[in-house]
Amino acid sequence: MSLSLGAPAQDAPAVADDGVWLECISCGGQFAPFDDIRFTCDDCDGLLEVRYADPPTWDDFSGEGVWRYSAGLPFEEGVSLPEGHTPLHEVPRLREDIGVNRLRVKHEGMNPTGSFKDRGMTVGVRVAEELGVDRLACASTGNTSAALAAYGARAGLETLVLLPAGKVAAGKVAQASLHDARILEVDGNFDACLDIVQNLANKGEVYLLNSLNPFRLEGQKTIGFEILEEFRDDYGRFPDRIVLPVGNAGNTAALFKAFRELVAAGAMDADEVPALTGVQAAGAAPMVEAIENGADEVRRWEEVETRATAIRIGNPVNAPKALPGIRETGGTAVAVDDEAITEAQRDLAREGVGVEPASAASVAGLRTLRGRGVVDADEDVVCLTTGHLLKDPDAAYEAGGDPEPVANSTSAVLEHIGAE
Ligand SMILES: *Cc1c(COP(=O)(O)O)cnc(C)c1O
Ligand SMILES: [Zn+2]
Repeated sequence: MSLSLGAPAQDAPAVADDGVWLECISCGGQFAPFDDIRFTCDDCDGLLEVRYADPPTWDDFSGEGVWRYSAGLPFEEGVSLPEGHTPLHEVPRLREDIGVNRLRVKHEGMNPTGSFKDRGMTVGVRVAEELGVDRLACASTGNTSAALAAYGARAGLETLVLLPAGKVAAGKVAQASLHDARILEVDGNFDACLDIVQNLANKGEVYLLNSLNPFRLEGQKTIGFEILEEFRDDYGRFPDRIVLPVGNAGNTAALFKAFRELVAAGAMDADEVPALTGVQAAGAAPMVEAIENGADEVRRWEEVETRATAIRIGNPVNAPKALPGIRETGGTAVAVDDEAITEAQRDLAREGVGVEPASAASVAGLRTLRGRGVVDADEDVVCLTTGHLLKDPDAAYEAGGDPEPVANSTSAVLEHIGAE
């Protein structure tokens, strides 16, 4: 496997288009990026990665949001709403409570459709235009469908989304619906939906925009660039650790790729790379199992359950990219139960940061690892919160306090709140 940290920049192969090509992470097969539609390697079915002859360094970046980083993307601009440039919140009470040197929260819920998926879609839909496809599709635990529907609408393309029936948070279905995606509810879990949509893509019926699509991860890579730039501007150094929820492990793979490209370009030393720390819900934790067992492959979990529906995934398709990311950066993976997730959702809310359950898993995981002494007190940590509170209003109501009925008069209200 050619994933290792600090691999030097490569000369562009003959198949490259303007210094960009696709490369199989398993067999090294190289393919032209935009001549044909492919999602995996023609030869071995391995995962593909977008490669650049000239990975970018800090001076190459200008502007704001995802397209600030176009020097490290396959295009100069895309179908944009616009996305990226999300806040890196300070959370002083939570930092104190968990007990680390610095704690910042990168709130990806502040993207246009309320999750980081927008970063991948702005690039992915641009590529779809380049390829000349007319129907976009994804399987989704919710946020991918919301993002695809919005970016597809913006581009004037037809969108089809496959959702696990009854397991998608209300806000996400509402978004896909209003942005006019065709929504198919499948009597099965997310992994079954992805199997089906992959088959549709292989038959040429749809262009697949799940994170198996290597171009989506290019957009998501910019989360890493943004965190590193902002942290360095504030403190003159990079964070020691980035903690993030893991579903299909696309973000884990994308952040690792951002680091590798910066190291290859000489923009960061290999020993400055943050430790990638993945968090899964205990009821859907195949990546954690693989990390704990030192396994090279992830075992598909057929039965998965968690309140954090965005990460209710038993077969993380990007595991072959993400496992080396966790290991080579000195990171780890940890499982947290739903109660800890809800508690972390409240912790963040107390700091004014409203997130959906999957996002809170990052903070729950950090707390668990700090408690076990895996994370040290002197570490500088960034937690990634992936989706907005309003995505899952039902979970928010359950985690929060109940409204109190009161009679229609000032005196009744005064009495109710215990005032004299
Ligand atoms: C998609 C999603 C995740 C999982 O991200 P992966 O890249 O698939 O690991 C986590 N949280 C939220 C809110 C998501 O929408
Ligand atoms: Zn291959």
